[in-house]
Amino acid sequence: MKELIVATKNEGKVREFRQMFANYNISVKSLLDFEEEMEDIEETGTTFSENATIKAEAVSQQFQLPVVADDSGLVIDALDGAPGVYSARYAGEEKDDAKNLQKVMQELQGVPREERTARFVCAVAVARPGEETFVKKGYCEGSIANEPSGANGFGYDPIFIPKGSKRTMAEYSAEEKNSISHRHHAIQQIEEWLKHQS
Ligand code: IMP
Repeated sequence: MKELIVATKNEGKVREFRQMFANYNISVKSLLDFEEEMEDIEETGTTFSENATIKAEAVSQQFQLPVVADDSGLVIDALDGAPGVYSARYAGEEKDDAKNLQKVMQELQGVPREERTARFVCAVAVARPGEETFVKKGYCEGSIANEPSGANGFGYDPIFIPKGSKRTMAEYSAEEKNSISHRHHAIQQIEEWLKHQS
């Protein structure tokens, strides 16, 4: 089984990459496995693609290995695209999922159902020593619930209702989420490259 480094310290993301890459016979190492060697990477980009590229290239350069990075977040139409690339830190530097949810709930108070449209976005970058980085994006359309519900997943899952569903993403099983998520759609687009790795 081939091993790939995924440039993230987010446990929710690591879990999902593990589950999805297992289909390609690839095992995942994340930055949680290299806590001491790797300092936090500053995400100075203004787009998901830029930030995914920054993370993938920084880690690939350090280890001199191929690296996959994901930059993702929630884009809410009624908030002009916020929290967007600032999703992880929306309510403060401590990256607190519960506080982030609360902040969205507050900002959307009184906004009617039909105006609560949103999407999850994921940019996946693949960086390799001496080769050009490539980036692919995936989306998951939906809307924001009136209150959080469900305990699966991570981040904004308890307030995100995928289009055509009555349940939040946090009420989906891992398999269900991994078959419709923004991350799934981005990974599908690097499938050919992944197949050559295993
Ligand atoms: P990043 O680590 O800078 O890419 O931040 C991603 C942030 O976007 C996470 O901390 C979550 O708040 C949010 N996010 C990304 N993907 C998901 C998802 O699949 N479910 C829920 N929230 C997500």
